[in-house]
Amino acid sequence: MAKSRFEYVRTYEQDAILLPNTYIVIRLDGRGFHRFSTHYNFRKPNDKRALCLMNAAAKQVMRHIPDVAGAYGQSDEYSFVLSRECTMFDRREAKLVSTFASTFTAQYQFLWPEYFPDTPLDGNMLPSFDGRAVLYPSLREVRDYFSWRQADCHINNLYNTSFWTLVLTGGSSEHDAEQALMGTNSGEKNELLFSRFGINYNNEEIMYRKGTMLIRDVGAGGSASASETTESKDVGEKSKRQVEREKNKRRKAEIVELHVDVIGDEFWTDAGRWIS
Ligand code: ATP
Ligand code: ATP
Ligand code: MG
Ligand code: MG
Ligand code: MG
Ligand code: MG
Ligand code: MG
Repeated sequence: MAKSRFEYVRTYEQDAILLPNTYIVIRLDGRGFHRFSTHYNFRKPNDKRALCLMNAAAKQVMRHIPDVAGAYGQSDEYSFVLSRECTMFDRREAKLVSTFASTFTAQYQFLWPEYFPDTPLDGNMLPSFDGRAVLYPSLREVRDYFSWRQADCHINNLYNTSFWTLVLTGGSSEHDAEQALMGTNSGEKNELLFSRFGINYNNEEIMYRKGTMLIRDVGAGGSASASETTESKDVGEKSKRQVEREKNKRRKAEIVELHVDVIGDEFWTDAGRWIS
């Protein structure tokens, strides 16, 4: 196509290209969900419908983007980890982040009526999600990343469970509940829940305490894929065909939803089956 004399403005575009051979983590977070959750009367401290909707939207993102190896979600956020050999959009950061955020947002809105059948979305209060990409050089940092998000889930959920129990069951005002919890450590919050309300925090629903991990089960032990992935070759060492084959396997693999501890070693001993 002939170029117009205006075409030069294109050269002002600056593309950030994400470093090759690194894990890309894209984290999305709901914009103003404190207000959003109040507007739609989310149950406190945890609205299960809202969490399941987040999980459903994330699964759809994984179905449409095979470069995603796994994802972790809690509250109004979801983190997607992409395989190191991902070449989607030639690893252009803006294209990747904006596509994840808009795909997730579209799915969240599309699926909303399934999870909130009696509460139609209000055009003046529509959900949107921001996004960012972070690069990690090895599985060690990826693991610590997921541990960081799960620790955050735990700290917030213990606080929110204590806070809303004081308010909803204990009859405290929000101000008094905040005062009562100020400066308390987790042992003290556990104790407060147990001694005053007979609640054993460890018996609270596991999805609330641990968040949700989504992985593609490309097949446990013995299969060609498992041995290939656990070899953990660098990008340059893999043939194009091998990368394509692994991507196809990811595309076909079942997406498994887990509510488990990702901080300890156990979850990671068999990590080669979903991330290489
Ligand atoms: P920002 O735009 O900066 O992200 P925010 O209001 O979304 O602001 P967050 O720190 O992301 O702030 O916190 C999200 C808030 O959304 C939580 O504090 C909680 O009030 C609410 N929320 C999210 N998911 C749920 C849920 N499943 N049930 C109840 N409340 C929820
Ligand atoms: P990329 O993902 O790289 O953006 P693309 O297929 O979206 O690929 P664009 O250069 O963005 O490519 O072009 C958008 C295309 O969408 C147009 O070439 C045209 O075929 C189609 N399109 C967009 N809007 C309309 C419209 N209103 N009516 C008909 N066709 C449209
Ligand atoms: Mg935020
Ligand atoms: Mg938010
Ligand atoms: Mg958040
Ligand atoms: Mg286009
Ligand atoms: Mg276009």
